Amino acid sequence: MDLSEMLGRKKGILSDMDGVIYHGNQLLPGVTEFVSWLKQNGKQFLFLTNSSERTPRELREKLTRMGLDVGVEHFYTSALATAAFLESQHAGGTAYVIGGNGLVNALYEAGFAMNDVNPDYVVVGETHSYSYDTITLAINLVQRGARLIGTNPDLTGPGEHGLVPATGAIISPIELATGRKAYFVGKPNPLMMRQALKRLGCTREESLIVGDRMDTDIIAGIESEIDTILVLSGVSTLEDLPQFPYQPHFVMNNVGDIPAGRTVRDIPRFSHVPESATKDSKRS
Ligand SMILES: [Mg+2]
Repeated sequence: MDLSEMLGRKKGILSDMDGVIYHGNQLLPGVTEFVSWLKQNGKQFLFLTNSSERTPRELREKLTRMGLDVGVEHFYTSALATAAFLESQHAGGTAYVIGGNGLVNALYEAGFAMNDVNPDYVVVGETHSYSYDTITLAINLVQRGARLIGTNPDLTGPGEHGLVPATGAIISPIELATGRKAYFVGKPNPLMMRQALKRLGCTREESLIVGDRMDTDIIAGIESEIDTILVLSGVSTLEDLPQFPYQPHFVMNNVGDIPAGRTVRDIPRFSHVPESATKDSKRS
């Protein structure tokens, strides 16, 4: 089975965004072709981001400004994954949140109420607005028994003028002061991938992960047993690959190589061929 046949058999695509779809406010090469290919071939797809700051609607608007039209249902954030996780753990619970609209909205929609006196959880995500006072309150709430949750473990993210602190960095004073370790829901936790698959309505064998980072996207695929494509348009480079004990299934320059069926390197082995595909190939 060649690459294009394999791609043809995949029903669901989980694609990372930063370094895959855009960088800063710029669409990356091949993205328009990739999205047309997804739509024309009737693929189910989700754009994933570990950042919990924005709502799906805000992400959609960001892509629209860059000239890409993708419906709001195609975005999945670590905020949505965190809200789904907390709902499964403690439906109707309460939370004190240090985070952006994306996180607050997701928790409200999952039936959580905000509480800054005795919440079940302290939930932290990316935000521009936190302060000494909010961190102090969070520390005291955790000290009094609230469980500490981080939407994603990233220490930094891309900002307009360089790096900005991400959830892992924002939450660490709370961890240090309380001696408690946060539980992180976003990538590389396979939980986020499983929830995304559920939303796609695809099995892991039917799905494919596209990402630009070995240490988050590709490991998340490996640990959830979903085939992976590493694109070289973001963080990880070809030279980085030998350092990792696991490898992606395909390496491509950018997502435009997916419709083109062009790889920089591939491992000629498909670990997770869909059930139907296996039967078909046996017949031929
Ligand atoms: Mg990325």
